[in-house]
Amino acid sequence: MGRLIVQKFGGTSVANAERLRNVARIITETYKAGNDVVAVLSAQGDTTDDLLEKAAEINPRASKREMDMLLSTGEQVSIALCAMAIEAMGFPVISLTGWQVGLKTNRNYGDARITRIDKDRITSELGQRRIVLVAGFQGINRFDDVTTLGRGGSDTSAVALAAVLHADLCQIYTDVDGVFTADPRIVKDATKLDEITYDEMLELATLGAQVLHNRSVEMAKKYQVNLEVLSSFSGNPGTKVKEVVKKMEKSHISGVAKDKNIARLALVGLADKPGTAFKIFSLLAREKINVDIILQSIGRDESKDISFTVARSDLERATEILERHHESLGFKRIEVNAKSAKVSIVGAGMVNSPGVAAKMFEALYDAGININMISTSEIKVSVLVDESDADRAVQVIHNRFFREFGQR
Ligand code: ADP
Ligand code: ASP
Ligand code: MG
Repeated sequence: MGRLIVQKFGGTSVANAERLRNVARIITETYKAGNDVVAVLSAQGDTTDDLLEKAAEINPRASKREMDMLLSTGEQVSIALCAMAIEAMGFPVISLTGWQVGLKTNRNYGDARITRIDKDRITSELGQRRIVLVAGFQGINRFDDVTTLGRGGSDTSAVALAAVLHADLCQIYTDVDGVFTADPRIVKDATKLDEITYDEMLELATLGAQVLHNRSVEMAKKYQVNLEVLSSFSGNPGTKVKEVVKKMEKSHISGVAKDKNIARLALVGLADKPGTAFKIFSLLAREKINVDIILQSIGRDESKDISFTVARSDLERATEILERHHESLGFKRIEVNAKSAKVSIVGAGMVNSPGVAAKMFEALYDAGININMISTSEIKVSVLVDESDADRAVQVIHNRFFREFGQR
């Protein structure tokens, strides 16, 4: 019996006519096998970056509404072209924008959250045995304005559609064979994972492994979407993302991730009295600035330091706000390091195995890489290093866990 399959194709997979035809072939083969197919497409190649550049040339402070109007066009080009390729192959197909499929979001332009999807249009098209192509990354808000879901958001469009349509499978087609133990473009001997848990994948994605948008993983877990990451080029089996995986007990860590979009701020010489941290972080929270790792030094001579990290894009704003409250916060100075990177190991198995963090630190020590901050949770250890050390850090940590001791 035919199944309902949602397939998503990323920017590299749809970058030119030849690749669009390849995508059309994957879609129509799935359809020919008797399945209903909904395919979500990203903008071609670097289109989204190019559009961002175009906007910056015209108005670097353009409103978020107009930015979304612009950025959403990339995906529309892809679905129309792909539909034409499928038409040329003689299959029934229709392309639909976020608006046409009733993908509703909140009003948060540029980083909108999906609130609901009216599935009637898609269901009716599928009922007529049409292949349905949907523009990823976009929706509409309650003002009927176009919104976008944040960079990499087409994954989330696909998983959301799979969830509401109760799809049997959601396949994320990309330019690598699946989820690897580290970014295969940085670590040449990274290995592909056959399967990974939602929780581990969510950590990896949140900690910088861009292969899946982290909100897509969150949603896949919530709605138990049967998720698979695979290559649109190789035809090799990919990585299954699921609740429980077979080998979990044996492996301590499943991957290494890197996030370069990090800046560190240190407030030096704060008064060592109650309420200081509260004041600092509520000021930042009010301005919607997300703080990640926080470190407070032990108070000495009634003075202490607090350092923390923010996304690099928030650095300027964060510094400005703190400077503005210099007097009431009462610090001596702010030290800024805009070129930081966070390198993390993730693994559901590490909670019961002491020494995992030590092993990571030892690998960095042997390579002469200095750790600026550390943060841990049950299934991850993150360190902050200088950006210039980041790729080497990923490599040496990966070697230590996946090569030298023949683990996994
Ligand atoms: P798409 O355009 O298909 O959405 P992305 O560029 O968003 O593709 O994500 C795929 C990229 O993610 C890969 O090319 C790879 O460089 C990067 N990546 C980072 N970490 C990992 C990882 N652990 N496993 C696989 N790919 C990773
Ligand atoms: N085109 C958008 C981006 O580059 C969405 C996506 O590819 O998922 O961020
Ligand atoms: Mg992506």
